Amino acid sequence: MSDQEKEEIIRTAIRAFPDFPSPGICFRDITPVLKDPLAFCSVIDLFEKHLRANFPKIDVIAGLDSRGFLFGPSLAQRFNIGFLLIRKKGKLPGPTESVSYSLEYGKAELEMQYDAVEPGQKVVLIDDLLATGGTMNAACELVKRRNAEILDCLVVIELKSLKGAQKIKPYTVHSLLQYD
Ligand code: AMP
Repeated sequence: MSDQEKEEIIRTAIRAFPDFPSPGICFRDITPVLKDPLAFCSVIDLFEKHLRANFPKIDVIAGLDSRGFLFGPSLAQRFNIGFLLIRKKGKLPGPTESVSYSLEYGKAELEMQYDAVEPGQKVVLIDDLLATGGTMNAACELVKRRNAEILDCLVVIELKSLKGAQKIKPYTVHSLLQYD
C-alpha cells in the first residue's frame, strides 16, 4: 500500500466534533484510528518510515499525556527502543521536573521523572495533535533541561493556522495530516 493510501485511511478515520470541549474548538478525534487496525498500523508505518529516513540513531520515544501514550509505545517497539511518559502534573512518583504551559483551551503543567532520560540521549517526542504548540513546547523544555537531544516532534494532526510549528522552533514537527 502506498503512503498516500495510508494517509487517506487515517484521514477518513479521524472525526471532527465542532464546539467540543468548548465553543469555537473543533475537536479532532483520533479514537476511530485506534478501533481500526489498518488505520492504526498506517500511523505507525508512516512515522517509522519518516524516522528511518531522517535519523540513523534514536534512543527513546517520549509520549505526551495522554494521546501520545497511544502511539508512542508501538512506534518505540519498531525501533526496539524505550518509551517514556511526559505527564500532566501530579501523576508521576519520585523526583520530577515540571514546566507550565497554555493550551488551545486552558492552562496546565507537564512533568517528567528526572531519571526518564539521560543527558545526551537522542529523543523523539510524540503526541496526537499540534494546536498552538504550547504542550509540545513545554515537553521539549523538559527534555532540554535534562540535556538530552531532541531529534523531532511527531504528531498525527497539525492545525496549521495556529502556527504551533513556529512556537517549538528550533525543533521540528512532522505531521501526517494537516488542517487549517
Ligand atoms: P496545544 O498545546 O495548543 O498545541 O494543544 C495540543 C494538545 O491539546 C494535544 O495534546 C491535543 O491532544 C490537545 N488538543 C488541542 N486542540 C485539540 C483539538 N482541536 N482536537 C483534539 N485535541 C486537541
